[in-house]
Parts: sequence; C-alpha cells; structure tokens
Amino acid sequence: MMNNKINLLVAGIAIFLLAGCDSHSSQQLIMEGKTMGTVWRVTVAGVDNTRKAALQQAIQQRLDADDAELSTWKPDSVLSRFNQTRSTAPQPVSDNMADIVTQALRIGAKTAGAMDITVGPLVNLWGFGPDKQPVHTPDKAQIEAAKAQTGLQHLHVIQGVNGQWLQKDLPDLYVDLSTMGEGFATDHLARLMEQQGINNYLVSVGGAVLSRGRNANNQPWRVAIQKPTDRESAVQARVELQGHGISTSGSYRNYYELDGKRISHVIDPASGRPIVHKLVSATVIAPTALEADGWDTGLMVLGTEKAQSLVLKHHLAAYLISKQGDKFVSWMSPQFAAFVIKPD
Ligand code: ADP
Ligand code: MG
Repeated sequence: MMNNKINLLVAGIAIFLLAGCDSHSSQQLIMEGKTMGTVWRVTVAGVDNTRKAALQQAIQQRLDADDAELSTWKPDSVLSRFNQTRSTAPQPVSDNMADIVTQALRIGAKTAGAMDITVGPLVNLWGFGPDKQPVHTPDKAQIEAAKAQTGLQHLHVIQGVNGQWLQKDLPDLYVDLSTMGEGFATDHLARLMEQQGINNYLVSVGGAVLSRGRNANNQPWRVAIQKPTDRESAVQARVELQGHGISTSGSYRNYYELDGKRISHVIDPASGRPIVHKLVSATVIAPTALEADGWDTGLMVLGTEKAQSLVLKHHLAAYLISKQGDKFVSWMSPQFAAFVIKPD
C-alpha cells in the first residue's frame, strides 16, 4: 500500500509523508527548498507542470519574507531589531508579527509557561541561539540572571484601530520565535496554495506539516509518524489531516554534549535548564500548523505525565512517545486516535 515514502526530516524522529503516487506523474508536482535553517516541501496534485517554476518562486519569496521578519539568526530581522532595542515603548509591528506573538502568548499561558517565547536569554546561554555554545555548564548565578530576563508577563501585544504594537516591560527581554516559526510558515504555504486556486496539497516546513484534499491517485494525503528507534522507516501511526496541521517536537534531533551530558535545545523556562526526562517526542494535530507547533514544544517541556493531563484537559489531539528502560511506550489521546488510519 505504501508506495512512495518521502522522508521529510533527515534524522531522528520524523514525520514522513506517504505521497501515495508516482512522484514522476505529471499530475503531481513536488517542489522543495530551504528556509529558516530547515527544508520546505510542497506537493500538489492536479496542477500543470508549466506552473512549477512560478510556484516554486512564489513559495520561496513567501518563506523568505517570514524569515526576514521572525528570525533571531538574522541581526536585521524585524524581531532582532525589537530584541536589540532597550526601549520599553510600544513598537509598531506588522499583522503577521502581532498574530504569531498573540498566538504564542495564548498557547504559552495554556501550557503554564512551558512554551515561552521569551526564553531567548536562556536559549542563548545554553548555546542554541546565535551566540556561541558555552564551554562549561552555566552556573546557577548565570542561569538565574538569564531567567530574570524572561517571562510571558513582560511581553504585550497592543491592538489599535491604526495598527498594532509590541511592547516589552524589561529592556533586555529577548523574544525567540524559533519553535513556532515552522508552523507559522507552513500555514502560510497552505494559504498561498489556496490563493493560487490549488486545493489538493501537502505542505511542510521542517517538522510542521499541513495537508488538504487528495493526491493524484485520488486518495487523501497521509502523514506517517516514524518510530523513534528504527533505522528502517517503520511506521508508528498514519494519519489523514484534511486541512489540519501536525507538528512533532523531539529531544533527539538537536543537542550537543557538554561536560559529558546531553544538552537538549528545548529549555524548561521554570528551571532555566534543558529538559531531561523520558518523553522523547510529542506530536500534536491542531486546526493550524502554528498551534500544533506551539503545543508540541509545551508538551515536550512538561514531560509525559504533565503533558498527558494537559492534553486531556484541553482535548488536544496529541501523541506522546516516552522511553521506559530500553523500551519506547506510546500514548495517544482520543482526539488523536480519531485521525489515525487503521492498517489496511
Ligand atoms: P523541536 O522541533 O525539537 O521542538 P523547535 O525547533 O521547534 O524544536 O524548537 C526549539 C527551539 O525553540 C530552540 O532552539 C529554542 O530556540 C526555542 N525554545 C527552547 N525552549 C523553548 C521553550 N520552552 N519555549 C519556546 N521556545 C523554546
Ligand atoms: Mg514546536
């Protein structure tokens, strides 16, 4: 049944896509490129090959525009300029920026601050931002000093009739939208497809995916979640999204070793330290890829038990994989189970 598997992510826990049809088919176009330090991929069905070059260009332009606005790696991005200014006066921002920050603050509050876009000073301290990696484990005083510069309560979006503003009430507040950028950009790709009159598409940026409609074989697009350990791309679960977004956060993909310890790039804002627990991946399906991408990070920070109770409380569609001894144990909420396709 699984004709053509396309690996979406290079390593670790991956969502991989079941294109379900011959990739050389004239009916199905596959486009890809790079953005935000990761890979984007768009597959569309029923679109003439002659549109490919123009589509490819429109996609890249859209993503480059997002990156130029939201990146903390580009010193001249809109976000970097907001981070650099020590002014606590409201700064005018685009609808785009106000939108992502508003949603990030909302999800942050729902995760009791586990997903916290003001975690930037800690991300930088632990060497996952544009600053260099530390040579030694940061000490308690450094962690406390960085932590004092964080907190969702210090960042505000002000909506007015003539525009919107972003305001920080700590001069050194540093906003990091890295964790939600992929989901945000994925939603933009979906919107771009709709604007182009295309409604059978599967779009992804990094670990965030959204699909709608059917592939060239007239079957719904399917997204598979890979088992974390298997070298072969063994499928743990397959889902049909139909306009929903899906995103996976995993502790396996981005880390380094410091003083003999494995340092994850996901930081627990409460402790100011990288997460260490048995939850190895969290996958969320939500009405938008942005929401899925925000929640998966929050769940990852919380760890298996707290994540489970939050998922049940908010009726989220979530899938968690935890390590117990040498084994991987998975758990899914009833809302996630509703998306899962039974093996044929
Ligand atoms: P993953 O796909 O593994 O979840 P992401 O790339 O989505 O990883 O997000 C990780 C990045 O998010 C980090 O490199 C850091 O910039 C930022 N980050 C780390 N911890 C948090 C947190 N608790 N809340 C929000 N952003 C975080
Ligand atoms: Mg995320």
